Amino acid sequence: MKLVMLGPPGAGKGTQARRLQDSRNLVQLSTGDMLRKAVAEATEYGIKAAAAMKAGELVSDEIVIATISERLDQPDLANGFILDGFPRNLEQAEALDAMLEAKGLVLDAVIDIAVVDDVLVDRVSGRYTCAKCGKGYHDTMEKPATDGVCDKCGSTEFKRRADDNAETVRNRLEVYHAETAPLQDYYRSKGKLKSVDGMADIDDVTRQIEEELDAA
Ligand code: AMP
Repeated sequence: MKLVMLGPPGAGKGTQARRLQDSRNLVQLSTGDMLRKAVAEATEYGIKAAAAMKAGELVSDEIVIATISERLDQPDLANGFILDGFPRNLEQAEALDAMLEAKGLVLDAVIDIAVVDDVLVDRVSGRYTCAKCGKGYHDTMEKPATDGVCDKCGSTEFKRRADDNAETVRNRLEVYHAETAPLQDYYRSKGKLKSVDGMADIDDVTRQIEEELDAA
Protein backbone atom coordinates (compact mmCIF):
# COMPACT_ATOMS: atom_id res chain seq x y z
CA MET A 1 0.00 0.00 0.00
CA LYS A 2 1.20 3.50 -0.83
CA LEU A 3 -0.24 6.15 1.49
CA VAL A 4 0.08 9.85 2.27
CA MET A 5 -0.68 11.29 5.74
CA LEU A 6 -2.07 14.80 5.55
CA GLY A 7 -2.89 17.14 8.42
CA PRO A 8 -1.62 20.11 10.43
CA PRO A 9 1.34 19.90 12.83
CA GLY A 10 0.18 18.03 15.94
CA ALA A 11 -2.67 16.20 14.16
CA GLY A 12 -1.05 12.84 14.96
CA LYS A 13 0.39 11.98 11.54
CA GLY A 14 3.59 10.51 12.95
CA THR A 15 1.81 8.54 15.69
CA GLN A 16 -0.69 7.04 13.27
CA ALA A 17 1.97 6.37 10.62
CA ARG A 18 4.01 4.40 13.19
CA ARG A 19 0.94 2.32 14.03
CA LEU A 20 0.26 1.56 10.34
CA GLN A 21 3.90 0.69 9.92
CA ASP A 22 3.38 -2.13 12.43
CA SER A 23 -0.17 -3.20 11.53
CA ARG A 24 0.31 -3.23 7.74
CA ASN A 25 4.03 -3.85 7.40
CA LEU A 26 4.64 -0.50 5.71
CA VAL A 27 7.60 1.87 6.04
CA GLN A 28 7.04 5.33 7.51
CA LEU A 29 8.81 8.00 5.47
CA SER A 30 8.89 11.24 7.43
CA THR A 31 10.55 14.13 5.58
CA GLY A 32 10.77 15.96 8.93
CA ASP A 33 12.79 13.06 10.44
CA MET A 34 15.00 12.85 7.34
CA LEU A 35 15.67 16.58 7.44
CA ARG A 36 16.36 16.60 11.21
CA LYS A 37 18.92 13.82 10.63
CA ALA A 38 20.50 15.80 7.79
CA VAL A 39 20.71 18.87 10.04
CA ALA A 40 22.25 16.83 12.90
CA GLU A 41 24.82 15.35 10.51
CA ALA A 42 25.44 18.75 8.88
CA THR A 43 25.11 17.34 5.37
CA GLU A 44 24.85 19.71 2.41
CA TYR A 45 21.03 19.48 2.47
CA GLY A 46 20.98 19.76 6.26
CA ILE A 47 22.98 22.97 6.27
CA LYS A 48 20.64 24.44 3.64
CA ALA A 49 17.46 23.30 5.47
CA ALA A 50 18.32 24.33 9.05
CA ALA A 51 17.20 27.98 9.04
CA ALA A 52 13.80 27.30 7.41
CA MET A 53 13.10 24.47 9.87
CA LYS A 54 13.98 26.59 12.89
CA ALA A 55 11.56 29.29 11.70
CA GLY A 56 8.77 26.83 10.91
CA GLU A 57 8.95 27.62 7.18
CA LEU A 58 9.02 25.03 4.42
CA VAL A 59 12.40 23.81 3.24
CA SER A 60 12.91 24.28 -0.53
CA ASP A 61 10.99 21.90 -2.81
CA GLU A 62 14.25 21.00 -4.54
CA ILE A 63 15.73 19.55 -1.33
CA VAL A 64 12.67 17.60 -0.16
CA ILE A 65 11.80 16.26 -3.60
CA ALA A 66 15.37 15.05 -4.14
CA THR A 67 15.37 13.48 -0.65
CA ILE A 68 12.11 11.58 -1.25
CA SER A 69 13.00 10.59 -4.79
CA GLU A 70 16.23 8.92 -3.62
CA ARG A 71 14.42 7.20 -0.75
CA LEU A 72 11.65 5.76 -2.97
CA ASP A 73 14.26 3.76 -4.86
CA GLN A 74 15.32 1.75 -1.78
CA PRO A 75 14.38 -1.97 -1.82
CA ASP A 76 12.87 -2.00 1.72
CA LEU A 77 9.75 -0.25 0.36
CA ALA A 78 8.59 -3.20 -1.73
CA ASN A 79 5.53 -3.80 0.49
CA GLY A 80 4.60 -0.12 0.56
CA PHE A 81 5.14 3.09 2.51
CA ILE A 82 3.45 5.94 4.32
CA LEU A 83 4.56 9.43 3.41
CA ASP A 84 4.40 11.53 6.58
CA GLY A 85 4.93 15.26 6.00
CA PHE A 86 5.26 15.05 2.22
CA PRO A 87 3.84 16.49 0.01
CA ARG A 88 3.44 19.86 1.71
CA ASN A 89 2.36 22.00 -1.27
CA LEU A 90 1.02 21.61 -4.82
CA GLU A 91 4.46 21.58 -6.44
CA GLN A 92 5.49 18.66 -4.24
CA ALA A 93 2.20 16.83 -4.90
CA GLU A 94 2.72 17.13 -8.66
CA ALA A 95 6.34 16.04 -8.31
CA LEU A 96 5.17 13.01 -6.30
CA ASP A 97 2.68 12.07 -9.02
CA ALA A 98 5.43 12.24 -11.62
CA MET A 99 7.85 10.22 -9.45
CA LEU A 100 5.30 7.48 -8.79
CA GLU A 101 4.29 7.29 -12.42
CA ALA A 102 7.92 6.99 -13.50
CA LYS A 103 8.37 4.12 -11.04
CA GLY A 104 5.11 2.44 -12.10
CA LEU A 105 3.52 3.01 -8.66
CA VAL A 106 0.02 4.22 -7.72
CA LEU A 107 -1.03 6.02 -4.54
CA ASP A 108 -3.77 4.05 -2.74
CA ALA A 109 -5.10 6.72 -0.38
CA VAL A 110 -4.44 10.04 1.31
CA ILE A 111 -5.44 10.04 4.98
CA ASP A 112 -6.42 13.53 6.10
CA ILE A 113 -6.40 13.91 9.90
CA ALA A 114 -8.66 16.84 10.81
CA VAL A 115 -8.00 18.77 14.04
CA VAL A 116 -9.10 22.34 14.92
CA ASP A 117 -6.32 24.93 15.30
CA ASP A 118 -7.17 25.83 18.90
CA VAL A 119 -5.82 22.59 20.34
CA LEU A 120 -2.78 22.25 18.09
CA VAL A 121 -0.53 24.85 19.72
CA ASP A 122 -1.00 23.16 23.13
CA ARG A 123 -0.58 19.69 21.70
CA VAL A 124 2.66 20.50 19.89
CA SER A 125 4.32 22.84 22.38
CA GLY A 126 3.88 20.31 25.21
CA ARG A 127 5.20 17.24 23.43
CA TYR A 128 8.52 15.47 23.96
CA THR A 129 9.95 12.00 23.37
CA CYS A 130 12.17 9.48 25.09
CA ALA A 131 15.69 10.04 23.73
CA LYS A 132 16.36 6.30 23.74
CA CYS A 133 13.24 4.53 22.37
CA GLY A 134 11.31 7.47 20.87
CA LYS A 135 8.09 6.96 22.87
CA GLY A 136 6.04 10.15 22.79
CA TYR A 137 4.85 12.09 25.87
CA HIS A 138 3.13 15.38 26.66
CA ASP A 139 3.63 17.81 29.59
CA THR A 140 -0.05 17.64 30.62
CA MET A 141 -1.82 15.11 28.37
CA GLU A 142 0.49 12.09 28.60
CA LYS A 143 3.06 11.99 31.38
CA PRO A 144 5.19 8.93 32.20
CA ALA A 145 3.80 6.87 35.13
CA THR A 146 6.93 7.74 37.14
CA ASP A 147 8.12 11.29 36.70
CA GLY A 148 11.22 11.48 34.49
CA VAL A 149 11.31 7.73 33.65
CA CYS A 150 10.21 6.34 30.28
CA ASP A 151 7.34 3.84 30.65
CA LYS A 152 8.58 1.77 27.75
CA CYS A 153 12.35 1.48 28.19
CA GLY A 154 13.18 3.02 31.59
CA SER A 155 15.46 5.70 30.16
CA THR A 156 15.64 9.03 32.01
CA GLU A 157 16.68 11.05 28.96
CA PHE A 158 14.06 12.93 26.98
CA LYS A 159 14.21 15.36 24.08
CA ARG A 160 12.08 18.10 22.56
CA ARG A 161 12.11 19.28 18.95
CA ALA A 162 13.59 22.77 18.59
CA ASP A 163 10.59 23.85 16.46
CA ASP A 164 7.95 22.65 18.97
CA ASN A 165 7.67 26.00 20.75
CA ALA A 166 4.46 28.07 20.73
CA GLU A 167 5.75 30.82 18.43
CA THR A 168 7.13 28.48 15.75
CA VAL A 169 4.06 26.27 15.94
CA ARG A 170 1.82 29.26 15.11
CA ASN A 171 3.97 29.92 12.06
CA ARG A 172 3.88 26.24 11.05
CA LEU A 173 0.07 26.37 11.29
CA GLU A 174 -0.08 29.43 9.03
CA VAL A 175 2.16 27.69 6.52
CA TYR A 176 -0.06 24.61 6.73
CA HIS A 177 -3.23 26.59 5.90
CA ALA A 178 -1.61 28.57 3.08
CA GLU A 179 0.44 25.81 1.43
CA THR A 180 -0.67 22.34 2.54
CA ALA A 181 -4.44 22.51 3.13
CA PRO A 182 -5.10 23.08 -0.63
CA LEU A 183 -3.91 19.49 -1.12
CA GLN A 184 -7.22 18.33 0.36
CA ASP A 185 -9.00 19.53 -2.81
CA TYR A 186 -6.20 18.22 -5.00
CA TYR A 187 -6.57 14.67 -3.66
CA ARG A 188 -10.37 14.86 -3.26
CA SER A 189 -10.66 15.58 -6.99
CA LYS A 190 -8.61 12.44 -7.66
CA GLY A 191 -10.87 10.36 -5.39
CA LYS A 192 -8.00 9.58 -2.99
CA LEU A 193 -8.90 11.67 0.08
CA LYS A 194 -10.06 9.81 3.22
CA SER A 195 -10.83 12.18 6.10
CA VAL A 196 -10.77 11.08 9.73
CA ASP A 197 -11.63 12.95 12.93
CA GLY A 198 -8.29 13.68 14.62
CA MET A 199 -10.03 15.14 17.69
CA ALA A 200 -11.01 11.60 18.76
CA ASP A 201 -8.70 9.65 21.07
CA ILE A 202 -5.63 8.02 19.52
CA ASP A 203 -7.04 4.48 19.36
CA ASP A 204 -10.27 5.71 17.81
CA VAL A 205 -8.35 7.62 15.10
CA THR A 206 -6.43 4.42 14.34
CA ARG A 207 -9.70 2.50 14.06
CA GLN A 208 -11.14 5.12 11.66
CA ILE A 209 -8.01 4.93 9.49
CA GLU A 210 -8.01 1.13 9.41
CA GLU A 211 -11.69 1.16 8.36
CA GLU A 212 -10.99 3.65 5.57
CA LEU A 213 -8.07 1.54 4.33
CA ASP A 214 -10.07 -1.69 4.45
CA ALA A 215 -12.71 0.02 2.27
CA ALA A 216 -10.17 1.61 -0.13
P1 AMP B 1 7.55 17.79 10.47
O1 AMP B 1 8.43 16.87 11.27
O2 AMP B 1 6.81 17.10 9.37
O3 AMP B 1 6.66 18.64 11.35
O4 AMP B 1 8.54 18.81 9.73
C1 AMP B 1 9.39 19.68 10.46
C2 AMP B 1 9.93 20.77 9.54
O5 AMP B 1 10.69 20.16 8.48
C3 AMP B 1 8.87 21.61 8.83
O6 AMP B 1 8.39 22.68 9.62
C4 AMP B 1 9.65 22.09 7.61
O7 AMP B 1 10.55 23.12 7.95
C5 AMP B 1 10.48 20.87 7.26
N1 AMP B 1 9.76 19.95 6.32
C6 AMP B 1 9.33 18.68 6.58
N2 AMP B 1 8.73 18.15 5.50
C7 AMP B 1 8.78 19.11 4.53
C8 AMP B 1 8.31 19.18 3.19
N3 AMP B 1 7.66 18.15 2.61
N4 AMP B 1 8.54 20.34 2.51
C9 AMP B 1 9.19 21.37 3.06
N5 AMP B 1 9.63 21.38 4.33
C10 AMP B 1 9.44 20.25 5.07
